[in-house]
Amino acid sequence: MATTSKSICSICKEEIGIEHGGWDGGHNAQPINDGRCCLTCNDTQVIPARLVKQFGWSLEDAQIVGQQMSQAAEKMQTRYVS
Ligand SMILES: [Zn+2]
Repeated sequence: MATTSKSICSICKEEIGIEHGGWDGGHNAQPINDGRCCLTCNDTQVIPARLVKQFGWSLEDAQIVGQQMSQAAEKMQTRYVS
């Protein structure tokens, strides 16, 4: 898979941005689909879907955890950047 051009999230169709550390390859979108996804979709959709599928969590619980992870990641990035 080419990583030289900008990647588009396979879930929300937004551009996959560059994350802390310079990684711009996005995330594996399984089990939502076979493509790549952005950090936001990874936290709010992909990880919850994995928790539901692999660990039998309720979707509600899984989405709460996904959002908390997303917020924690944002705080960490803010701290590192500033
Ligand atoms: Zn996305």
